[in-house]
Amino acid sequence: MEAPLQQLKHPLLDEQSIELWVKREDLLHPAISGNKWRKLKYNLQQARSENKDTLLTFGGAYSNHIAATAAAGQEFGFRTIGIIRGEEHEPLNPTLQFAISRGMQLHYISREQYRLKDDANFLEELSQKYKQPYFIPEGGTNALAVKGCTEIVEDINIAYDYICCACGTGGTIAGIIAVLDGEKQVLGFPALKGGNFLQKEIEALILKYNGKKYSNWQLLTDYHFGGYAKVKPELLDFIYTFQKQHHILLEPIYTGKMFFGLFDLIKQGYFKSGSRIVAIHTGGLQGNAGFKERLGVEV
Ligand SMILES: *Cc1c(COP(=O)(O)O)cnc(C)c1O
Repeated sequence: MEAPLQQLKHPLLDEQSIELWVKREDLLHPAISGNKWRKLKYNLQQARSENKDTLLTFGGAYSNHIAATAAAGQEFGFRTIGIIRGEEHEPLNPTLQFAISRGMQLHYISREQYRLKDDANFLEELSQKYKQPYFIPEGGTNALAVKGCTEIVEDINIAYDYICCACGTGGTIAGIIAVLDGEKQVLGFPALKGGNFLQKEIEALILKYNGKKYSNWQLLTDYHFGGYAKVKPELLDFIYTFQKQHHILLEPIYTGKMFFGLFDLIKQGYFKSGSRIVAIHTGGLQGNAGFKERLGVEV
């Protein structure tokens, strides 16, 4: 499996003498998308070494992680249980249809109950109900996921100054920061509103992974477009134009916001001339079908 680097050409980049490369994690696997594969890899190994036959995880109804876990379970021979936030809606959206087609068993819980997803008693209840499964947290983020995400960086075989990544739970960027070990600058683009809360969570994930604290990274919290899974016409226009120009599909939840933010920063002269930037395309394109269905917009 390979995630090649691809250089983008754009007049703005020439004007500012900036080189922009995209790390195509979206091409890693047809169904276990981008960073979700990186996050699952060592968890699957761990589950296997504990002789577990079932993976249990958590997510919203459009979750890339739910889709990826279902596909990984089928490919690597695990039964999968998805604990889904909110009520069941028929017909199922494309993400959940996909999950079921890959053999995942879905279990819906209320939003209130979902808040207990890390609570020891609730997990014990689920553990008994589903016969001691291997638990993977929401979004797939744990220490083994951080370890898997370090490999995104190890694959990059060019010199560069900045690396950019979209953030949900922060697990992916934590792996990137940890493996760089203080080198280069890392920029994170939170997909959620009020993304500053992530600062502490990312620090904690890194601390747990290698016991260190770094200052060569920063979150750009102004590109959330109203919040998680919220969009604006200018974001959709950007994604459409990006695809036309570069023949790379983005999605509006994570990668669209990151590239929008990145081009905005370049426009503002944020990067000094001669900088070389690597942006991680974390995948997630499975969600576009659901987006089209919900909003009636093509992305
Ligand atoms: C899940 C996801 C992210 C966020 O990853 P975290 O490790 O939760 O920060 C970014 N991009 C895409 C496409 C995703 O599916």
